[in-house]
Amino acid sequence: MGFKSRARKRRASSQGGDGVPSNEDKPEFVGDVPCDIKGCERWADKKAGGRKMAYDRAVDVWGTSGISKKVRKISLCKPCYRTWKKEKKGEPKEWE
Ligand SMILES: [Zn+2]
Repeated sequence: MGFKSRARKRRASSQGGDGVPSNEDKPEFVGDVPCDIKGCERWADKKAGGRKMAYDRAVDVWGTSGISKKVRKISLCKPCYRTWKKEKKGEPKEWE
């Protein structure tokens, strides 16, 4: 008992209350909607900035083999959507 209280006291004084790394501001996000791009393990939840996209549009960038689900609308995580946007840049707009 005496040992425990001494240890706590020592730690508090050596860190001055300032040396505790705060990992509370970035909790690991756990979503419901996985990204449908093959090999991508991020979440495509709206909360996480994910998007829905027509399958055909995504095929333009990743090809049919790069998409893990064949559904009319696939889910994209934020980084994958960015990739898509980048690939599409410079092409004439065919849709709005
Ligand atoms: Zn993704």
